[in-house]
Amino acid sequence: METGTSNFIEEIINDDLKSGKNSNVVTRFPPEPNGYLHIGHAKSICLNFGLAKKYNGRCHLRFDDTNPSKEEDEYINSIQEDVRWLGFDWGDHLHFASDYFDKLYDFAILLIKEGKAYVCDLSADETREYRGTLKEAGKESPYRNRSVEENLELFSNMKAGKYKEGEKVLRAKIDMKSGNICMRDPIIYRIQYSHHHRTGDKWCIYPMYDFTHCLSDAIEGVTHSVCTLEFKNNRDLYDWVLQAVNFEHRPRQIEFARLNLNYTVMSKRLLLQLVRENHVSGWDDPRMPTISGLRRRGFTPESVRDFTSRIGVAKADNIVDIALLEHCLREDLNKKANRAIAVLNPLKLIIENFPENEELMLEAKNNPEDESAGSRMLPFTKELFIERDDFKTEAPKKYFRLAPGMEVRLKFAFYVTCTGFSTDDKGNITEVRATYDPDTKGGWSQDGRKVKGTIHWLSAKHAKNAEVRIYDRLFQTANPYDAPEGKTFLDNLNPESLTTLKNVKIEESLANAEPGYICQFERTGYFCSDIKDHTHERPVYNRAVPLRDSWAKIDN
Ligand code: ATP
Ligand code: MG
Repeated sequence: METGTSNFIEEIINDDLKSGKNSNVVTRFPPEPNGYLHIGHAKSICLNFGLAKKYNGRCHLRFDDTNPSKEEDEYINSIQEDVRWLGFDWGDHLHFASDYFDKLYDFAILLIKEGKAYVCDLSADETREYRGTLKEAGKESPYRNRSVEENLELFSNMKAGKYKEGEKVLRAKIDMKSGNICMRDPIIYRIQYSHHHRTGDKWCIYPMYDFTHCLSDAIEGVTHSVCTLEFKNNRDLYDWVLQAVNFEHRPRQIEFARLNLNYTVMSKRLLLQLVRENHVSGWDDPRMPTISGLRRRGFTPESVRDFTSRIGVAKADNIVDIALLEHCLREDLNKKANRAIAVLNPLKLIIENFPENEELMLEAKNNPEDESAGSRMLPFTKELFIERDDFKTEAPKKYFRLAPGMEVRLKFAFYVTCTGFSTDDKGNITEVRATYDPDTKGGWSQDGRKVKGTIHWLSAKHAKNAEVRIYDRLFQTANPYDAPEGKTFLDNLNPESLTTLKNVKIEESLANAEPGYICQFERTGYFCSDIKDHTHERPVYNRAVPLRDSWAKIDN
């Protein structure tokens, strides 16, 4: 598995190991179960599990489920499936922040007893007002100096459900004048009458992220708590809480830049909106930047891991070109995907001098990049299908495919020369005719005669019908968040992100493939039989990426 080169996080870990601060490495991936994972999460997963692997340590999967919401079970299952699919294993370390609710409550009591937390009655608006701004210090809450006894009683009443939501909160007593707004008496518990997927109705108070996260890390013995840059200011609070409860084990928070990709959105909130409002078919729509969407589209775990390792670990935000992700997939599949023939937009080609009922079996290589992939036999008959695009009634300059009088190679088969074509009364081409040269079997002439064009074909009698879905970028602008006044990111959706071809002809082997089968269609791209919709009777293929690689051009 790819481990990547050393980065600034590894340098910190190396120092901590050298100085004896830590004797092992424990990391965690802490998703909130409020949506499906996306490619940004894949970055974090590969980083955290990758570090554990590199240092022979371990990485925990911990659900940050402090915010009860709906559909959590679906999200929890999909998240585990996605992490496993990426190739990682948390062993016995599947954790839930909610497993620590009792402990966290005890820590809150401890803080109150030490005079480091208080129950506050300010409304949400008042709290915001009192907090101050970056330029202005905050004001102390009038409830700040309640006695320990009163705080203990009020907090216990909060837990007992004696107040309404928002009526009271528990706040850490730190410093309303701190230059870091996170430290201005942050809320650590709030009242919420919600059913929790694991603790049921036991609790009506829930701990806040900043209080929960550091303590969960500490309880689990996490050594390096790697998170994204937006938590930089929260690090003071992370350290303060551990200090305030006097936790012996002190995990270290390290921030890195989150992954941003152009032509897509990555926030779960927006992805959920796309799903809810049916702009896509679901979280696993192959146009979605979700891991399940990428998987359904035909991405491999290897290509996603390679991508996350190539972009590296940065300290400053940047935007990565989605073409790099596609490039990584082509690189991976070029070596391992078998080739097969599909005619996306079929046009009949009649071989005039080939006998009516004869079937000739011709050998076709499965993968020119991999001899061990072997070969298969393709039937050649009088009536074939070729791509409509591969024929023109008149050949323009530098056109090397089929046109009246022109000779091309039918891949793996013969040289053929076009003799004519027919049209219907509207002028649409209905069939093309050609003669073949029997001395060019396999696609090579014995007299050294060369042709410039090679096209693919299928025997009309043997070809199976299929539906093929061609995907383009989900958004038509590189930065979908950037919408003119009165518009939203939805206005930047690409109306042509999905084209469904209903009359595709495919090799029989492609019809017989199982769902999730990834291959290259000769000359048109990498495709994957749809995990949900593909059956042997009704084959359905998704295009993962076209063959053309714009990234390789930029790169070189
Ligand atoms: P979103 O804003 O998409 O909802 P999130 O950060 O709220 O993402 P979490 O479930 O809280 O999602 O994230 C779990 C972990 O994944 C966190 O450690 C977070 O920092 C990391 N993560 C989320 N998005 C990215 C990203 N784009 N790049 C790298 N890491 C990310
Ligand atoms: Mg979040």
